Amino acid sequence: MTATLNILGDTPGQLFIGGEWRDSSSGERQPVITPATGQKVAEVAWATVADVDAAVASAKAAFDSGVWSRISGRERATVLLKIGALIRERAEELAQAESADVGKPILFSRIIDVPTAAETFEYYAALAQTAEGTMRETPLPALQLTRHEPVGVVGAITPFNFPLILAASKLAPALAAGNTVVHKPSEDTPLSAILLAQILEDAGLPSGVYNLITGAGPELGERLVEHPHTSMIAFTGSTAVGSKVAAKAGELFKPIMTELGGNGANIVFADADVNVAVGAIINAFVFNTGQFCMSGSRLLVERPLYDTIIGILTQAVPGVPVGRIDDMGTIVGPLISERQLQRVEAFVERAKAAGGEVIVGGHRLDIDGGYYYAPTVITGLANDAEAIQEEVFGPVLTVQVFDTEEEAIALANSTRYGLAHGIQTTDIIKATRVAKRLDSGIVWVNDWGKLDTAVPFGGTKNSGYGRENGPEGMLVYTRSKSIVISTPEPTAAPQS
Ligand code: NAD
Repeated sequence: MTATLNILGDTPGQLFIGGEWRDSSSGERQPVITPATGQKVAEVAWATVADVDAAVASAKAAFDSGVWSRISGRERATVLLKIGALIRERAEELAQAESADVGKPILFSRIIDVPTAAETFEYYAALAQTAEGTMRETPLPALQLTRHEPVGVVGAITPFNFPLILAASKLAPALAAGNTVVHKPSEDTPLSAILLAQILEDAGLPSGVYNLITGAGPELGERLVEHPHTSMIAFTGSTAVGSKVAAKAGELFKPIMTELGGNGANIVFADADVNVAVGAIINAFVFNTGQFCMSGSRLLVERPLYDTIIGILTQAVPGVPVGRIDDMGTIVGPLISERQLQRVEAFVERAKAAGGEVIVGGHRLDIDGGYYYAPTVITGLANDAEAIQEEVFGPVLTVQVFDTEEEAIALANSTRYGLAHGIQTTDIIKATRVAKRLDSGIVWVNDWGKLDTAVPFGGTKNSGYGRENGPEGMLVYTRSKSIVISTPEPTAAPQS
Protein backbone atom coordinates (compact mmCIF):
# COMPACT_ATOMS: atom_id res chain seq x y z
CA MET A 1 0.00 0.00 0.00
CA THR A 2 1.34 3.43 -0.83
CA ALA A 3 0.36 6.86 0.41
CA THR A 4 -0.93 8.00 -2.99
CA LEU A 5 -3.10 5.00 -3.72
CA ASN A 6 -6.72 5.80 -4.61
CA ILE A 7 -8.14 2.47 -3.61
CA LEU A 8 -11.55 3.18 -5.16
CA GLY A 9 -10.06 3.78 -8.62
CA ASP A 10 -12.62 5.58 -10.82
CA THR A 11 -15.43 5.03 -8.31
CA PRO A 12 -16.31 8.46 -6.91
CA GLY A 13 -17.30 7.28 -3.39
CA GLN A 14 -20.90 8.50 -3.43
CA LEU A 15 -24.11 7.56 -1.69
CA PHE A 16 -26.37 4.99 -3.36
CA ILE A 17 -30.01 5.96 -2.95
CA GLY A 18 -33.01 4.83 -5.00
CA GLY A 19 -30.76 3.12 -7.55
CA GLU A 20 -28.72 6.28 -8.18
CA TRP A 21 -25.23 7.33 -7.16
CA ARG A 22 -25.29 10.79 -5.68
CA ASP A 23 -23.33 13.27 -3.58
CA SER A 24 -24.32 14.15 -0.05
CA SER A 25 -27.02 16.83 0.07
CA SER A 26 -24.47 19.04 1.84
CA GLY A 27 -21.75 18.30 -0.73
CA GLU A 28 -19.43 17.29 2.13
CA ARG A 29 -16.79 14.62 1.61
CA GLN A 30 -14.33 13.12 4.06
CA PRO A 31 -11.00 11.34 3.59
CA VAL A 32 -10.57 7.65 4.31
CA ILE A 33 -7.30 6.89 6.11
CA THR A 34 -5.50 3.56 5.96
CA PRO A 35 -4.30 2.41 9.39
CA ALA A 36 -1.33 0.79 7.63
CA THR A 37 0.38 4.15 7.06
CA GLY A 38 -1.95 6.84 8.38
CA GLN A 39 -2.30 8.18 4.82
CA LYS A 40 -5.42 9.04 2.86
CA VAL A 41 -6.45 6.31 0.39
CA ALA A 42 -9.86 7.56 -0.76
CA GLU A 43 -12.60 10.07 -0.14
CA VAL A 44 -16.29 9.42 0.42
CA ALA A 45 -19.52 11.40 0.55
CA TRP A 46 -20.55 12.43 4.07
CA ALA A 47 -24.31 12.00 4.25
CA THR A 48 -26.75 14.23 6.12
CA VAL A 49 -29.93 13.37 7.99
CA ALA A 50 -31.82 14.48 4.87
CA ASP A 51 -29.92 11.80 2.92
CA VAL A 52 -30.95 9.18 5.50
CA ASP A 53 -34.56 10.28 5.04
CA ALA A 54 -34.23 10.01 1.25
CA ALA A 55 -32.68 6.53 1.57
CA VAL A 56 -35.45 5.32 3.89
CA ALA A 57 -38.12 6.79 1.61
CA SER A 58 -36.64 4.97 -1.36
CA ALA A 59 -36.40 1.69 0.59
CA LYS A 60 -40.00 2.08 1.76
CA ALA A 61 -41.29 2.80 -1.74
CA ALA A 62 -39.39 -0.22 -3.08
CA PHE A 63 -40.78 -2.43 -0.32
CA ASP A 64 -44.36 -1.26 -0.79
CA SER A 65 -44.19 -1.69 -4.56
CA GLY A 66 -43.67 -5.43 -4.08
CA VAL A 67 -40.92 -5.43 -6.72
CA TRP A 68 -38.76 -7.42 -4.25
CA SER A 69 -40.96 -8.19 -1.24
CA ARG A 70 -43.65 -9.98 -3.23
CA ILE A 71 -41.62 -11.86 -5.83
CA SER A 72 -40.84 -15.52 -5.22
CA GLY A 73 -37.90 -16.67 -3.15
CA ARG A 74 -36.63 -18.39 -6.27
CA GLU A 75 -36.49 -15.10 -8.16
CA ARG A 76 -34.69 -13.43 -5.26
CA ALA A 77 -32.23 -16.31 -5.15
CA THR A 78 -31.24 -15.68 -8.77
CA VAL A 79 -30.11 -12.15 -7.86
CA LEU A 80 -28.38 -13.27 -4.65
CA LEU A 81 -26.43 -15.94 -6.54
CA LYS A 82 -25.36 -13.33 -9.08
CA ILE A 83 -24.14 -11.12 -6.21
CA GLY A 84 -22.05 -14.04 -4.91
CA ALA A 85 -20.60 -14.60 -8.39
CA LEU A 86 -19.74 -10.90 -8.85
CA ILE A 87 -18.03 -10.80 -5.45
CA ARG A 88 -15.87 -13.69 -6.59
CA GLU A 89 -15.20 -11.98 -9.92
CA ARG A 90 -14.08 -8.76 -8.19
CA ALA A 91 -12.37 -10.58 -5.31
CA GLU A 92 -8.95 -8.96 -5.58
CA GLU A 93 -10.35 -5.44 -5.84
CA LEU A 94 -12.53 -6.05 -2.78
CA ALA A 95 -9.63 -7.60 -0.87
CA GLN A 96 -7.37 -4.62 -1.60
CA ALA A 97 -10.07 -2.17 -0.51
CA GLU A 98 -10.82 -4.11 2.67
CA SER A 99 -7.16 -4.40 3.60
CA ALA A 100 -6.39 -0.72 2.97
CA ASP A 101 -9.50 0.41 4.83
CA VAL A 102 -9.23 -1.82 7.93
CA GLY A 103 -5.47 -2.37 7.96
CA LYS A 104 -6.17 -6.05 7.55
CA PRO A 105 -3.32 -8.26 6.27
CA ILE A 106 -4.09 -9.03 2.63
CA LEU A 107 -3.80 -12.77 3.33
CA PHE A 108 -6.96 -12.67 5.44
CA SER A 109 -8.93 -10.37 3.13
CA ARG A 110 -8.20 -12.85 0.33
CA ILE A 111 -8.82 -16.12 2.14
CA ILE A 112 -11.48 -15.14 4.68
CA ASP A 113 -13.33 -11.84 4.21
CA VAL A 114 -14.06 -11.88 0.48
CA PRO A 115 -14.90 -15.61 0.09
CA THR A 116 -17.05 -15.52 3.23
CA ALA A 117 -19.05 -12.61 1.83
CA ALA A 118 -19.67 -14.53 -1.41
CA GLU A 119 -20.62 -17.70 0.50
CA THR A 120 -23.07 -15.74 2.62
CA PHE A 121 -25.03 -14.52 -0.41
CA GLU A 122 -24.93 -18.03 -1.90
CA TYR A 123 -26.07 -19.65 1.35
CA TYR A 124 -29.05 -17.31 1.76
CA ALA A 125 -29.92 -17.74 -1.91
CA ALA A 126 -30.42 -21.41 -1.07
CA LEU A 127 -32.58 -20.55 1.93
CA ALA A 128 -34.63 -18.07 -0.11
CA GLN A 129 -35.44 -20.87 -2.56
CA THR A 130 -36.35 -23.41 0.08
CA ALA A 131 -38.03 -21.22 2.72
CA GLU A 132 -41.08 -22.84 4.27
CA GLY A 133 -44.06 -21.87 6.36
CA THR A 134 -46.00 -24.31 8.55
CA MET A 135 -49.43 -25.87 8.65
CA ARG A 136 -50.41 -27.16 12.08
CA GLU A 137 -53.25 -29.52 12.87
CA THR A 138 -55.55 -28.16 15.60
CA PRO A 139 -58.98 -29.16 16.94
CA LEU A 140 -60.53 -26.14 15.19
CA PRO A 141 -62.48 -26.63 11.97
CA ALA A 142 -59.89 -24.55 10.14
CA LEU A 143 -56.71 -24.72 8.10
CA GLN A 144 -54.02 -22.79 10.01
CA LEU A 145 -51.10 -21.57 7.97
CA THR A 146 -48.12 -19.66 9.32
CA ARG A 147 -45.96 -17.67 6.91
CA HIS A 148 -42.68 -15.88 7.59
CA GLU A 149 -43.08 -12.46 6.02
CA PRO A 150 -40.45 -9.73 5.54
CA VAL A 151 -40.55 -6.96 8.14
CA GLY A 152 -40.15 -4.01 5.74
CA VAL A 153 -37.24 -1.55 5.69
CA VAL A 154 -34.23 -2.85 7.63
CA GLY A 155 -31.71 -0.32 8.93
CA ALA A 156 -28.35 -2.14 8.91
CA ILE A 157 -25.55 -0.56 10.98
CA THR A 158 -22.15 -2.25 10.77
CA PRO A 159 -18.80 -1.81 12.61
CA PHE A 160 -15.26 -1.23 11.36
CA ASN A 161 -13.62 -4.59 11.99
CA PHE A 162 -15.20 -6.92 9.38
CA PRO A 163 -16.96 -4.47 7.07
CA LEU A 164 -17.60 -6.80 4.14
CA ILE A 165 -18.46 -9.97 6.07
CA LEU A 166 -20.78 -8.17 8.47
CA ALA A 167 -22.48 -6.27 5.65
CA ALA A 168 -23.05 -9.61 3.89
CA SER A 169 -24.31 -11.32 7.04
CA LYS A 170 -27.04 -8.68 7.34
CA LEU A 171 -27.84 -7.86 3.72
CA ALA A 172 -27.96 -11.44 2.42
CA PRO A 173 -30.56 -12.80 4.88
CA ALA A 174 -32.53 -9.53 5.03
CA LEU A 175 -32.78 -9.46 1.23
CA ALA A 176 -33.39 -13.21 0.98
CA ALA A 177 -36.41 -12.76 3.24
CA GLY A 178 -37.80 -10.01 0.97
CA ASN A 179 -36.90 -6.87 2.93
CA THR A 180 -35.40 -3.67 1.61
CA VAL A 181 -32.34 -2.17 3.31
CA VAL A 182 -30.66 1.09 4.23
CA HIS A 183 -27.05 0.33 5.17
CA LYS A 184 -24.77 2.55 7.21
CA PRO A 185 -21.23 1.17 7.42
CA SER A 186 -18.68 2.42 9.96
CA GLU A 187 -17.34 5.87 9.12
CA ASP A 188 -13.85 4.38 9.57
CA THR A 189 -14.33 1.66 6.92
CA PRO A 190 -16.88 2.52 4.20
CA LEU A 191 -14.95 1.34 1.14
CA SER A 192 -16.00 -2.28 0.62
CA ALA A 193 -19.65 -1.24 1.10
CA ILE A 194 -19.33 1.10 -1.88
CA LEU A 195 -17.94 -1.69 -4.06
CA LEU A 196 -20.60 -4.07 -2.75
CA ALA A 197 -23.33 -1.55 -3.66
CA GLN A 198 -22.01 -1.53 -7.25
CA ILE A 199 -22.18 -5.31 -7.25
CA LEU A 200 -25.75 -5.33 -5.95
CA GLU A 201 -26.70 -2.87 -8.69
CA ASP A 202 -24.91 -4.90 -11.39
CA ALA A 203 -26.57 -8.11 -10.17
CA GLY A 204 -29.95 -6.61 -11.02
CA LEU A 205 -31.31 -5.78 -7.58
CA PRO A 206 -34.29 -3.46 -8.28
CA SER A 207 -33.81 0.26 -7.53
CA GLY A 208 -34.36 1.26 -3.93
CA VAL A 209 -34.07 -2.26 -2.53
CA TYR A 210 -30.57 -1.51 -1.23
CA ASN A 211 -29.44 1.98 -0.23
CA LEU A 212 -26.05 3.01 1.12
CA ILE A 213 -25.31 6.04 3.27
CA THR A 214 -21.77 6.82 4.43
CA GLY A 215 -20.98 9.35 7.13
CA ALA A 216 -21.01 10.14 10.85
CA GLY A 217 -22.17 7.27 13.09
CA PRO A 218 -24.22 8.99 15.78
CA GLU A 219 -26.01 11.43 13.47
CA LEU A 220 -26.96 8.98 10.71
CA GLY A 221 -27.33 5.94 12.96
CA GLU A 222 -29.69 7.66 15.38
CA ARG A 223 -31.87 8.93 12.53
CA LEU A 224 -32.02 5.44 11.05
CA VAL A 225 -33.14 4.02 14.40
CA GLU A 226 -35.82 6.61 15.07
CA HIS A 227 -37.12 6.99 11.52
CA PRO A 228 -40.79 6.01 11.49
CA HIS A 229 -40.34 3.97 8.31
CA THR A 230 -37.50 1.70 9.39
CA SER A 231 -39.25 -1.46 10.56
CA MET A 232 -36.24 -3.09 12.15
CA ILE A 233 -32.63 -2.33 13.10
CA ALA A 234 -29.78 -4.80 12.69
CA PHE A 235 -26.87 -3.44 14.70
CA THR A 236 -23.35 -4.78 15.14
CA GLY A 237 -20.96 -2.67 17.19
CA SER A 238 -19.85 -1.81 20.68
CA THR A 239 -21.91 -2.55 23.78
CA ALA A 240 -21.98 1.17 24.65
CA VAL A 241 -23.54 2.24 21.34
CA GLY A 242 -25.68 -0.92 21.13
CA SER A 243 -27.21 -0.09 24.48
CA LYS A 244 -28.22 3.39 23.23
CA VAL A 245 -29.61 1.96 20.01
CA ALA A 246 -31.57 -0.74 21.88
CA ALA A 247 -32.98 1.82 24.34
CA LYS A 248 -34.25 4.05 21.53
CA ALA A 249 -35.64 1.11 19.57
CA GLY A 250 -37.33 -0.18 22.72
CA GLU A 251 -39.07 3.16 23.21
CA LEU A 252 -40.43 2.84 19.69
CA PHE A 253 -41.28 -0.91 19.94
CA LYS A 254 -38.99 -1.41 16.97
CA PRO A 255 -37.47 -4.90 16.61
CA ILE A 256 -33.69 -4.90 16.85
CA MET A 257 -30.93 -7.42 16.48
CA THR A 258 -27.77 -6.57 18.44
CA GLU A 259 -24.33 -8.15 18.03
CA LEU A 260 -22.07 -6.41 20.56
CA GLY A 261 -18.73 -6.65 22.36
CA GLY A 262 -17.05 -9.67 23.90
CA ASN A 263 -14.00 -10.83 25.85
CA GLY A 264 -13.99 -14.60 25.50
CA ALA A 265 -12.32 -17.02 27.89
CA ASN A 266 -10.13 -19.79 26.54
CA ILE A 267 -9.98 -22.61 29.12
CA VAL A 268 -6.93 -24.86 28.85
CA PHE A 269 -7.22 -28.04 30.90
CA ALA A 270 -4.13 -29.91 32.04
CA ASP A 271 -4.93 -32.81 29.68
CA ALA A 272 -4.93 -30.58 26.58
CA ASP A 273 -2.81 -31.39 23.54
CA VAL A 274 -0.28 -28.59 24.07
CA ASN A 275 0.43 -27.99 20.38
CA VAL A 276 -3.26 -27.71 19.54
CA ALA A 277 -3.88 -25.51 22.58
CA VAL A 278 -1.03 -23.10 21.82
CA GLY A 279 -2.25 -22.63 18.23
CA ALA A 280 -5.75 -21.89 19.51
CA ILE A 281 -4.46 -19.55 22.24
CA ILE A 282 -2.40 -17.41 19.88
CA ASN A 283 -4.98 -17.35 17.09
CA ALA A 284 -7.66 -16.39 19.62
CA PHE A 285 -6.02 -13.13 20.62
CA VAL A 286 -4.02 -11.99 17.57
CA PHE A 287 -6.57 -12.66 14.81
CA ASN A 288 -7.62 -9.34 13.22
CA THR A 289 -5.11 -7.68 15.61
CA GLY A 290 -7.43 -8.58 18.48
CA GLN A 291 -10.18 -6.42 16.93
CA PHE A 292 -12.47 -9.42 16.87
CA CYS A 293 -15.67 -9.44 18.91
CA MET A 294 -15.05 -13.14 19.50
CA SER A 295 -11.44 -12.76 20.62
CA GLY A 296 -10.19 -15.18 23.22
CA SER A 297 -8.57 -12.39 25.20
CA ARG A 298 -8.70 -14.21 28.55
CA LEU A 299 -6.61 -17.34 28.90
CA LEU A 300 -7.44 -19.63 31.84
CA VAL A 301 -4.87 -22.41 32.39
CA GLU A 302 -5.17 -25.36 34.78
CA ARG A 303 -2.30 -25.15 37.26
CA PRO A 304 -0.23 -28.22 36.21
CA LEU A 305 0.13 -26.79 32.67
CA TYR A 306 0.52 -23.13 33.64
CA ASP A 307 4.34 -22.87 33.60
CA THR A 308 4.59 -24.85 30.36
CA ILE A 309 2.08 -22.59 28.58
CA ILE A 310 3.69 -19.40 29.89
CA GLY A 311 7.10 -20.68 28.74
CA ILE A 312 5.79 -21.45 25.24
CA LEU A 313 3.93 -18.14 24.89
CA THR A 314 7.03 -16.20 25.98
CA GLN A 315 8.96 -17.86 23.17
CA ALA A 316 6.27 -18.02 20.48
CA VAL A 317 4.32 -14.74 20.68
CA PRO A 318 7.26 -12.45 19.75
CA GLY A 319 7.65 -14.61 16.63
CA VAL A 320 4.11 -13.96 15.33
CA PRO A 321 4.61 -12.05 12.07
CA VAL A 322 3.55 -8.42 12.53
CA GLY A 323 4.15 -6.28 9.48
CA ARG A 324 3.07 -4.60 6.29
CA ILE A 325 -0.43 -5.56 5.26
CA ASP A 326 0.53 -6.22 1.64
CA ASP A 327 3.03 -8.90 2.72
CA MET A 328 1.35 -12.31 2.38
CA GLY A 329 3.37 -13.50 5.39
CA THR A 330 1.86 -10.93 7.76
CA ILE A 331 -0.51 -12.26 10.41
CA VAL A 332 -0.92 -9.12 12.55
CA GLY A 333 -1.56 -5.70 11.03
CA PRO A 334 -2.17 -2.30 12.63
CA LEU A 335 -5.04 -1.24 14.85
CA ILE A 336 -7.79 0.80 13.19
CA SER A 337 -6.70 4.26 14.33
CA GLU A 338 -4.36 6.30 16.48
CA ARG A 339 -7.30 6.67 18.90
CA GLN A 340 -7.65 2.87 19.21
CA LEU A 341 -3.86 2.52 19.59
CA GLN A 342 -3.91 4.99 22.48
CA ARG A 343 -6.88 3.17 24.01
CA VAL A 344 -5.02 -0.16 23.96
CA GLU A 345 -1.88 1.46 25.37
CA ALA A 346 -3.91 2.98 28.19
CA PHE A 347 -5.50 -0.40 29.00
CA VAL A 348 -2.05 -2.00 29.28
CA GLU A 349 -0.70 0.84 31.42
CA ARG A 350 -3.66 0.55 33.80
CA ALA A 351 -3.22 -3.24 33.90
CA LYS A 352 0.41 -2.72 34.99
CA ALA A 353 -0.71 -0.24 37.64
CA ALA A 354 -3.20 -2.87 38.87
CA GLY A 355 -0.35 -5.34 39.46
CA GLY A 356 -0.20 -7.05 36.06
CA GLU A 357 3.13 -8.20 34.66
CA VAL A 358 3.67 -7.71 30.92
CA ILE A 359 5.66 -10.81 29.96
CA VAL A 360 5.56 -10.19 26.19
CA GLY A 361 5.01 -7.00 24.14
CA GLY A 362 3.38 -4.00 25.79
CA HIS A 363 4.57 -1.37 23.31
CA ARG A 364 3.96 0.26 19.93
CA LEU A 365 5.78 -0.89 16.82
CA ASP A 366 7.21 1.50 14.27
CA ILE A 367 6.12 0.16 10.87
CA ASP A 368 5.51 2.58 7.96
CA GLY A 369 3.81 5.14 10.25
CA GLY A 370 0.92 2.71 10.86
CA TYR A 371 -0.95 2.14 14.13
CA TYR A 372 0.89 -1.00 15.24
CA TYR A 373 0.94 -2.53 18.72
CA ALA A 374 2.96 -5.61 19.62
CA PRO A 375 1.04 -8.76 20.63
CA THR A 376 1.04 -8.56 24.41
CA VAL A 377 0.66 -11.08 27.23
CA ILE A 378 -0.15 -10.02 30.80
CA THR A 379 -0.09 -12.23 33.89
CA GLY A 380 -0.78 -11.67 37.57
CA LEU A 381 -4.03 -9.70 37.37
CA ALA A 382 -6.89 -10.23 39.80
CA ASN A 383 -10.14 -11.31 38.16
CA ASP A 384 -11.78 -7.95 38.79
CA ALA A 385 -9.04 -6.07 36.89
CA GLU A 386 -10.31 -3.89 34.07
CA ALA A 387 -8.24 -5.68 31.40
CA ILE A 388 -10.00 -8.93 32.34
CA GLN A 389 -13.50 -7.60 32.81
CA GLU A 390 -13.63 -5.28 29.79
CA GLU A 391 -13.11 -5.58 26.04
CA VAL A 392 -9.65 -4.23 25.14
CA PHE A 393 -10.08 -4.76 21.37
CA GLY A 394 -6.38 -5.11 20.66
CA PRO A 395 -3.80 -7.93 20.55
CA VAL A 396 -3.69 -8.30 24.33
CA LEU A 397 -4.00 -11.56 26.28
CA THR A 398 -4.45 -11.86 30.04
CA VAL A 399 -3.50 -15.17 31.67
CA GLN A 400 -5.05 -16.61 34.83
CA VAL A 401 -4.59 -19.93 36.60
CA PHE A 402 -7.33 -22.25 37.92
CA ASP A 403 -7.46 -25.43 39.99
CA THR A 404 -10.88 -26.96 39.36
CA GLU A 405 -13.44 -27.28 36.59
CA GLU A 406 -15.95 -25.32 38.68
CA GLU A 407 -13.47 -22.49 39.12
CA ALA A 408 -12.75 -22.37 35.37
CA ILE A 409 -16.46 -22.15 34.56
CA ALA A 410 -17.00 -19.44 37.18
CA LEU A 411 -14.07 -17.37 35.88
CA ALA A 412 -15.17 -17.77 32.25
CA ASN A 413 -18.70 -16.62 33.08
CA SER A 414 -17.60 -13.81 35.38
CA THR A 415 -17.70 -10.86 32.95
CA ARG A 416 -20.68 -8.94 31.60
CA TYR A 417 -20.04 -10.36 28.12
CA GLY A 418 -21.03 -13.72 26.62
CA LEU A 419 -20.14 -14.11 22.97
CA ALA A 420 -17.52 -16.84 22.49
CA HIS A 421 -15.55 -19.15 24.75
CA GLY A 422 -13.08 -21.98 24.11
CA ILE A 423 -12.10 -25.25 25.77
CA GLN A 424 -8.82 -27.04 25.13
CA THR A 425 -8.87 -30.66 26.36
CA THR A 426 -8.49 -34.19 25.05
CA ASP A 427 -11.45 -35.32 27.20
CA ILE A 428 -14.51 -34.86 24.98
CA ILE A 429 -16.91 -35.75 27.80
CA LYS A 430 -15.45 -32.96 29.91
CA ALA A 431 -15.52 -30.58 26.93
CA THR A 432 -19.23 -31.26 26.37
CA ARG A 433 -20.04 -30.92 30.06
CA VAL A 434 -18.21 -27.61 30.39
CA ALA A 435 -19.45 -26.22 27.05
CA LYS A 436 -23.04 -26.63 28.21
CA ARG A 437 -22.35 -24.43 31.24
CA LEU A 438 -20.50 -21.63 29.47
CA ASP A 439 -22.65 -18.55 29.04
CA SER A 440 -22.04 -17.60 25.41
CA GLY A 441 -23.46 -18.00 21.92
CA ILE A 442 -20.61 -20.21 20.67
CA VAL A 443 -17.99 -22.49 22.26
CA TRP A 444 -14.98 -23.80 20.38
CA VAL A 445 -13.36 -27.06 21.46
CA ASN A 446 -9.69 -27.66 20.60
CA ASP A 447 -9.67 -24.64 18.33
CA TRP A 448 -10.59 -20.98 18.22
CA GLY A 449 -12.47 -18.96 15.63
CA LYS A 450 -13.85 -21.48 13.12
CA LEU A 451 -17.01 -19.95 11.71
CA ASP A 452 -19.24 -20.80 8.81
CA THR A 453 -22.25 -19.12 7.27
CA ALA A 454 -24.34 -22.15 8.24
CA VAL A 455 -23.44 -21.87 11.94
CA PRO A 456 -25.36 -19.32 14.00
CA PHE A 457 -23.54 -17.10 16.47
CA GLY A 458 -24.51 -14.28 18.77
CA GLY A 459 -24.37 -13.08 22.33
CA THR A 460 -25.74 -13.45 25.79
CA LYS A 461 -25.68 -10.76 28.51
CA ASN A 462 -24.04 -7.49 27.33
CA SER A 463 -22.87 -9.11 24.08
CA GLY A 464 -26.35 -8.57 22.67
CA TYR A 465 -29.19 -10.73 21.45
CA GLY A 466 -30.19 -12.16 18.11
CA ARG A 467 -28.26 -14.59 15.95
CA GLU A 468 -26.41 -14.16 12.66
CA ASN A 469 -25.75 -16.96 10.16
CA GLY A 470 -27.67 -20.16 9.64
CA PRO A 471 -31.45 -20.29 9.22
CA GLU A 472 -31.75 -18.35 12.52
CA GLY A 473 -29.94 -15.46 10.84
CA MET A 474 -32.76 -15.18 8.28
CA LEU A 475 -35.69 -15.81 10.59
CA VAL A 476 -34.74 -12.68 12.51
CA TYR A 477 -35.61 -10.58 9.42
CA THR A 478 -39.13 -11.99 9.25
CA ARG A 479 -42.27 -11.93 11.34
CA SER A 480 -44.77 -14.70 11.36
CA LYS A 481 -48.32 -14.27 10.22
CA SER A 482 -50.95 -16.92 10.80
CA ILE A 483 -53.78 -17.27 8.33
CA VAL A 484 -56.73 -19.23 9.66
CA ILE A 485 -59.14 -20.48 6.96
CA SER A 486 -62.41 -21.73 8.29
CA THR A 487 -63.33 -25.21 7.09
CA PRO A 488 -66.74 -25.90 8.67
CA GLU A 489 -68.35 -29.30 8.24
CA PRO A 490 -71.37 -29.08 5.88
CA THR A 491 -74.55 -28.81 7.88
CA ALA A 492 -76.92 -31.72 7.28
CA ALA A 493 -79.85 -30.92 4.94
CA PRO A 494 -83.12 -30.53 6.87
CA GLN A 495 -85.36 -33.63 6.71
CA SER A 496 -88.67 -33.07 4.98
P1 NAD B 1 -19.20 1.29 17.33
O1 NAD B 1 -20.24 0.91 18.30
O2 NAD B 1 -18.36 2.46 17.60
O3 NAD B 1 -19.87 1.55 15.88
C1 NAD B 1 -20.69 0.60 15.26
C2 NAD B 1 -21.58 1.28 14.25
O4 NAD B 1 -22.50 2.13 14.93
C3 NAD B 1 -20.84 2.18 13.27
O5 NAD B 1 -21.43 2.09 12.00
C4 NAD B 1 -21.04 3.56 13.86
O6 NAD B 1 -20.96 4.57 12.89
C5 NAD B 1 -22.47 3.43 14.37
N1 NAD B 1 -22.84 4.37 15.43
C6 NAD B 1 -22.05 5.13 16.21
N2 NAD B 1 -22.81 5.84 17.08
C7 NAD B 1 -24.10 5.53 16.82
C8 NAD B 1 -25.34 5.91 17.40
N3 NAD B 1 -25.41 6.80 18.41
N4 NAD B 1 -26.48 5.38 16.90
C9 NAD B 1 -26.44 4.47 15.90
N5 NAD B 1 -25.29 4.07 15.31
C10 NAD B 1 -24.14 4.59 15.77
O7 NAD B 1 -18.32 -0.03 17.08
P2 NAD B 1 -16.97 -0.19 16.26
O8 NAD B 1 -15.88 0.47 17.01
O9 NAD B 1 -17.17 0.16 14.83
O10 NAD B 1 -16.79 -1.78 16.30
C11 NAD B 1 -16.19 -2.45 17.34
C12 NAD B 1 -17.20 -3.04 18.29
O11 NAD B 1 -18.09 -3.88 17.58
C13 NAD B 1 -16.55 -3.94 19.33
O12 NAD B 1 -17.15 -3.72 20.58
C14 NAD B 1 -16.84 -5.35 18.82
O13 NAD B 1 -16.84 -6.33 19.81
C15 NAD B 1 -18.18 -5.15 18.22
N6 NAD B 1 -18.46 -6.20 17.25
C16 NAD B 1 -19.37 -7.17 17.57
C17 NAD B 1 -19.60 -8.23 16.68
C18 NAD B 1 -20.56 -9.33 17.02
O14 NAD B 1 -20.92 -10.09 16.14
N7 NAD B 1 -21.00 -9.45 18.26
C19 NAD B 1 -18.94 -8.27 15.46
C20 NAD B 1 -18.03 -7.24 15.16
C21 NAD B 1 -17.81 -6.21 16.06
